[in-house]
Amino acid sequence: MESFKNNMQVWTSWLLQLLSIELGDKNHMALSNNITAEHELKNDENIYNILPKKVEDAKKIISDAIEQFGDELAVACSFGKDSMVVVHLALQVDPTIKIFTVMTPFKPQETFDYKDEMIAKYHLNLEEYISTETVDINLPKTNPDECCRILKVEPTKQAVMNLDAWICGLRNTEGRTRKDYKIIEKKNGLTKINPILEWTELDIWRYMAINEIPVHPFYARGYRSLGCEPCTSLVNDTGLEREGRWIGTSKCGGECGIHTKSLK
Ligand code: SF4
Repeated sequence: MESFKNNMQVWTSWLLQLLSIELGDKNHMALSNNITAEHELKNDENIYNILPKKVEDAKKIISDAIEQFGDELAVACSFGKDSMVVVHLALQVDPTIKIFTVMTPFKPQETFDYKDEMIAKYHLNLEEYISTETVDINLPKTNPDECCRILKVEPTKQAVMNLDAWICGLRNTEGRTRKDYKIIEKKNGLTKINPILEWTELDIWRYMAINEIPVHPFYARGYRSLGCEPCTSLVNDTGLEREGRWIGTSKCGGECGIHTKSLK
């Protein structure tokens, strides 16, 4: 037990060092406090078995999905932290698994750059979808539901048109609208698989650090959930991650529609 504790101290200090490089001081401080508090709360080995178990469970869910749906399955990737974890898990099960992304003209240039970096690093078998419709530059503020319908929901419908199932990085602690999802969901002939549904924000950062997955530069600026630039704001560490999405509109902290509308 003593050597286990010593190992954990080394592991935690190594993780914090890595996170301070990747995330910058603000997020590093928040995570440092989280890890210290968690360590003090449950200073036994059970807590440290949670992430490896979640990793194995997620890989099994993905592997079962591949077995069931074969080529009619793809992973959705927005290039946020949760997507990158799901993609990384899926690549371990099948390095050539199909991945799709929906980009919009309102995503920050950093997201386009990060996407290209990840495609090259992980040799992603990725298909990119982007709406051909032109939208008014003010639409994100004047009618965000319509903007999301055009730029996110419709291209996602295209992406899943020939699929029977898709894998998402959705997590039930991310926001007020994500509490009631299930690991497997079926809607109108399309199955959605959420392998990291029960992962916490801290699980995500631990997995990113342990696996040295490059971090989108917006996280170093303090963002906790990434979307299009006009609809993504900084929020403090006490609220839910998605509270910075669509601030000042009725959609605040909510959904773009790809998880709530029927895609088929
Ligand atoms: S997140 Fe904002 S900018 Fe992006 S599609 Fe939705 S409303 Fe438009």
